[in-house]
Amino acid sequence: MTLETSIEYVKGIGPEKAKLIKNVLGVSTVEDFLTFYPTRYIDKNKVYKIANLQESSIEIQLKGKITSVQEIQTGKVKRLSAKFNDDTGMMDLVWFQYSKWMVEQLPINREIYIFGKINVFNNQFSMPHPEIEIDERKENDNRLRPIYPSSEKLTKRGLHQKFFQTVLRNICKEIPNLIQENLPDYMMNSFKFMSRQHTYLNIHFPKDLDHFEKANNRLKFEESFFFQLGFGLKKLHHKTQSHGNPFPIVGAHFTDFYANNLPFELTNAQKRVLKEIRLDMKKPIQMNRLLQGDVGSGKTMVALLTMLIAMDNGFQSCLMAPTEILAQQHFNGIKELLAETNINVRILTGSSKASERKIIHQELENGELSILIGTHAVLEDKVKFKNLGLAIIDEQHRFGVAQRAKLWAKNKIPPHILVMTATPIPRTLAMSFYSDLDVSVIDEMPVGRKPIITAHRREKDRAFVYNFCRDEIKKGRQVYFVYPLIEESETLDYKNLMEGLDHVMDSFPDYKVSMLHGKMKPAEKDAAMNYFVSGEAEIMVATTVIEVGVNVPNASVMVIESSERFGLSQLHQLRGRVGRGAEQSYCILMTSDKLSKESRTRIKTMTETNDGFKISEVDMQLRGPGDILGTQQSGVIDFKRLDLVNDSAIIKATKKTVEKILEADPLLAKPENLVIKNYYVRYYKGKNKWSKIS
Ligand code: ADP
Ligand code: MG
Repeated sequence: MTLETSIEYVKGIGPEKAKLIKNVLGVSTVEDFLTFYPTRYIDKNKVYKIANLQESSIEIQLKGKITSVQEIQTGKVKRLSAKFNDDTGMMDLVWFQYSKWMVEQLPINREIYIFGKINVFNNQFSMPHPEIEIDERKENDNRLRPIYPSSEKLTKRGLHQKFFQTVLRNICKEIPNLIQENLPDYMMNSFKFMSRQHTYLNIHFPKDLDHFEKANNRLKFEESFFFQLGFGLKKLHHKTQSHGNPFPIVGAHFTDFYANNLPFELTNAQKRVLKEIRLDMKKPIQMNRLLQGDVGSGKTMVALLTMLIAMDNGFQSCLMAPTEILAQQHFNGIKELLAETNINVRILTGSSKASERKIIHQELENGELSILIGTHAVLEDKVKFKNLGLAIIDEQHRFGVAQRAKLWAKNKIPPHILVMTATPIPRTLAMSFYSDLDVSVIDEMPVGRKPIITAHRREKDRAFVYNFCRDEIKKGRQVYFVYPLIEESETLDYKNLMEGLDHVMDSFPDYKVSMLHGKMKPAEKDAAMNYFVSGEAEIMVATTVIEVGVNVPNASVMVIESSERFGLSQLHQLRGRVGRGAEQSYCILMTSDKLSKESRTRIKTMTETNDGFKISEVDMQLRGPGDILGTQQSGVIDFKRLDLVNDSAIIKATKKTVEKILEADPLLAKPENLVIKNYYVRYYKGKNKWSKIS
C-alpha cells in the first residue's frame, strides 16, 4: 500500500464501494482517506441510560440487550423493529432498510453496545439504524471513537461509521510505511511536536484527549506552515525575479507640491507609509503593496504623492476605482489639488465619450498624460500606455484577481502596484492570505477628527431621529438616509427607496432632497451627487451606491434604514461617509423591533467601536473567513484543520518560523531543511498556482 493506492484495493472496500465513496466524498486514494479527518469523537466510556434520556437528536451510546425482533408492515412499507433493554428501561430500535441476512445476524439477548442518534416520538425514545457492537472490549481499547463526515446516501448503502472506522483502522496499520516526517528535528524539538506518524494515528484513533490535542495542533501547524512557506517562497522568488522600474529620485513634482500645495500636514502614519512606499519603489523590483487604512484615514493623498514620485521618474500612473462615482470623485479631488500645477490628469470610465477616449488614448501613448483615473474601463486592451510605472487600485475588494492581473501587462516591465483598501482585514487573514504582499497600515486619523457617535434606534424613535436631523441641518449640516439593497428583488428595492424618499420629503418639507441609486444613468448620478456635494440639497436619500469612497465633509449625519439587513463591513463603510469634516458626526442605525442574535451582535459592535480592525475581527467570527474574502478567493484558504478565527496563535507562530527559515536558507538548501523541501515540492508546488494578488 502506498499513499497513491486507490482505495478500491484497501481491505474491506472493493470497486463498488470505492466508486460510491469517491463520488460522494471525493476520497479516492489512501492518502485522501488518511486526510479524511473525523469531525468529532464519541467517548466510548460514556454510556447513557434509557431512563435518563432527555433530549433527542443527539448521538449516544447505550449498553444493554436486544430482547425481541419483529418485522412490521404498514401498507407497502416494511420496517424492522427491536426491543432494546438496559437496566433502566426499554427503547425501540428501528430499521427502515434491512436485509434478511442482517436480521439473522442480530445478537439477541447478548450484552451489546449500540450507537446512534435518538429520536423522540410521543414521548418515547427510539433509535433508527443503530450501530451495534458486541461487548468484547478490551481494557486498552481506544476510548475515543471517531465520527467521520458522512451522508445519508452512504449510510443507506450500508456504509456506516463502523465501516469507516474499520477501513481507517486498516489503513492506519500501514502508517509506518506510509507516513514520513516532514518537519526537521530542530522544529520537532523546539515545538515539542508529536511525530507525524503518531499524529495520523491519533487523529483517527486518539489514545485520549491529550493525544488528540497534540495531533490536532500539529496538523494545524503543518497546514499553516506549508501554506505560508508557499507564500514566502513566492515572495522571495518575486523579489529576485520580478523586474520593476526603479524610481530613484524624488523630484520637483513631488517637492513643489509638498511645499506649496499640500492643504494639510500629513499625519505621522501617512508619512510613515509614504516612506515605506518610496523605499520599495527605489528598487528595481516591482512593488506589491497593500495599503490598509480605515475610511477617512487619508489614503487618497498618499496615492497622489506616490503618483507624483512616478512622474518625477518619468513614468505614468493610473488610479483605478470600483465605481464611476468614486472615480469621478478621485478625479475631482486630485484635479483640484493639482490646480496650481500643470500636471495633466484625465478620467476614463464606461461613460466617457468617444471623443474624450480618443484624446486619452493618444495622450497615453505619446506620454502627454501623466495621471489616468478611471474605473475598470482603464483595463481595456485599447488603453495603452507609453510607460506605465505605477498602478493604484482603490478599494481592492471589489476587483477580482484576474482584473488586477491585466494591469500588470500594461507595461513591459510591470508597474509598481499599490492596492488600497478601507476594509481592514483581520490579522490572521492578512497574514495567511496576503502574505505575498507587503502591507502598510495607516493607523491614525487626521487630527481634529471627532469619533463618530453611533446609536441604535427603532421605529418608535423615528420622530426623535427626524427632529435630531432637523437640528443638525439647522446648524448647517447635511444628512444621508441610506436604504438597503436586496439583490433578489430590484423592484422591491426600488419601491423601498421611493417610499423612503416620499417619506423623507414629507417629513422634511423645508429642505431639498437629492436621490441616488444604482440604476440611474451616469449623468443623472452626477447631477444628484452635485446637488448634494454643492450643499444645495440638505438631504441625500440613497442606496448603498454611496458606500464606497464618497466624500462630503459637511455631511454629519447618516441614518441607515433597516440596518439589520447590512453586513458589518458594509455598515462600517457606510458610516465612513460621515465624520469627514471637523464637526461631530452621527450614525443612526434604524432597525425593526425584533432582531436576530447575529444582527444584534452587528449593531452592538457598531455602536461600541469605530475601529475597523476590531469590526473586521467580529465580522470574521460571524461570517467566517471565506465570506470575507469573497467567493472567488475563499477556496484559497480552504484549510482542513486550521481555523482562521481561532488559531491566530498558530498562524503567528508559523509565520515567524517561515520567515526565520527563509531568511537563513532561502532556497531550502541546507540539509536540515531537506525534509521540508521534499514535502513542499511534492504537495504544494502544483497546488499553489493561483495568480498573484495584483
Ligand atoms: P480614505 O482613506 O477613506 O480614502 P480620504 O483620502 O478620502 O480617505 O481622506 C478623507 C478626508 O480627510 C479627505 O477630505 C482628505 O482631504 C482629508 N485628509 C487626508 N489626510 C489629511 C490630513 N493629514 N489632515 C487633515 N485632513 C486630511
Ligand atoms: Mg478612499
